[in-house]
Amino acid sequence: MVYAATLSEALERYEPVIGLEVHAQLATRSKLFSDAPNQYDLERPNHFVTPYCFGMPGMLPVLNEAAVEMAIRAGLALSCTINERSEWSRKQYFYPDLPKGYQISQYDKPICSHGKLELRVGDERRTVRIERIHMEEDAGKSSHVAGSPVSLVDFNRAGVPLIEIVSAPDLRSAAEASAYLRSLRAILVALGVCDGNMEEGSFRCDANVSIRPRGATALGTRCELKNINSFRYVEQAIEFEILRHTHVVDEGGAIVQETRLYDSERRETRSMRGKEEAHDYRYFPDPDLPPLVIEPERIERLRATIGELPAAKRDRYVQTLGIPEEHADTFVDEPAVARYFDAAVAHRPKAALTIANLVKGELLRELKDDPQAIASTKLKPEELAELAELRDEDRISSTQQKKMFSKMWRDGVALATLLESEGEQVDDPNVLGPILDDLFAKHPEEVEKLAAGNTKIKSFFVGQVMRATKGKAKPPLVNRLIAERLKER
Ligand code: ADP
Ligand code: MG
Repeated sequence: MVYAATLSEALERYEPVIGLEVHAQLATRSKLFSDAPNQYDLERPNHFVTPYCFGMPGMLPVLNEAAVEMAIRAGLALSCTINERSEWSRKQYFYPDLPKGYQISQYDKPICSHGKLELRVGDERRTVRIERIHMEEDAGKSSHVAGSPVSLVDFNRAGVPLIEIVSAPDLRSAAEASAYLRSLRAILVALGVCDGNMEEGSFRCDANVSIRPRGATALGTRCELKNINSFRYVEQAIEFEILRHTHVVDEGGAIVQETRLYDSERRETRSMRGKEEAHDYRYFPDPDLPPLVIEPERIERLRATIGELPAAKRDRYVQTLGIPEEHADTFVDEPAVARYFDAAVAHRPKAALTIANLVKGELLRELKDDPQAIASTKLKPEELAELAELRDEDRISSTQQKKMFSKMWRDGVALATLLESEGEQVDDPNVLGPILDDLFAKHPEEVEKLAAGNTKIKSFFVGQVMRATKGKAKPPLVNRLIAERLKER
């Protein structure tokens, strides 16, 4: 479906309003209410399970305290109030991947409330309110076998601890929504509470979208776009939805509150079901679990473990290290990269800028092909720092640096070994001088042209010296030696 209005036309008349519900799987070792391993493994369905995960009669939930601590730390990092008393509730619905017939969640008494996330979108700063963070268990996963009536259910995911982070309807564009998600993901990953793997569904989002006439204060009717698992798809889905709402309203229609799915191939959203209301779920406090009580001392102890968050890290990179903003933004979005960069800078603080350029240029290019490589590469951050330092001291050229980086990263060749085989830059006049003398003697006609001021010929001589030294000659020195020889003639 293609709508007549373009996005910019639609935005002249209507203001989009967006609120996001993010589900983040907690990186605990075991599940939320049982000791089944919390492990993603499509190759071994129904492998990481206990009778609890199947909802067997007689099973009882036992709370995983590590999950609670992760939820509290996430709440603290998002400036939430940590509620000293929260409550577990049963959310009832029928689905084949939910054998108990209910999900244990939190309803009106969540573990965290009233937080905020400070965003940077272009040059603008925005504060997005967080309404609440609650804990719940994930459901299993159904898959439907194409062309057959068979459906399969995998309970590895059943009971995996989740936090759901619900924003206020404070976002105003697809770009803001995606900036919010990037920033939220970076915070959770930096805290170590979520691995942030969107492809595996560890970090996924429901986007609520409505529009209202510019200048209006009342909210329009929202549609909920379910389970989107990439930043790009969130932006596309929201933009499609803004156009769809504009079309419906322009035609004199009314938006129906409903749940929709985004089809990334056709780039459109489709109605999935009418929006369920809270009362449809028949929430009630779970009789198997006492209220969750969190002592203030525990909160303070966890507050001390938060560490440097991405926003503070970014400011430090830009203000203290003098790193370009664009580099800083990219590094903090991917906490594994920021950690690597920090370790390299700690080793050679003076080379920070060159380290940053290597990370931005070379390392991130490698990660594009293989995002997991940062965990497995043999190139230690300390060695990368030393490579940067060699360049700063002008002992290797930038071409050499790139070549060496690639051999160190991909093949795990040690810096010392490479320096021996590749050699440092040749900057000794006693080595380069005789090479030039030899060339001058072999090419008398070219020397005449050079003396007459022909600059093309000069590059010819520089190129020949480079060839003779396998690219290791230092060009400024070669230029100087050529000039000296011309003067002496
Ligand atoms: P539900 O589970 O029914 O979706 P929640 O309270 O969990 O309800 O989440 C509602 C989400 O929808 C919040 O992120 C909120 O900011 C957002 N939201 C509420 N009203 C609107 C609206 N009119 N337009 C856009 N987003 C909205
Ligand atoms: Mg919702």
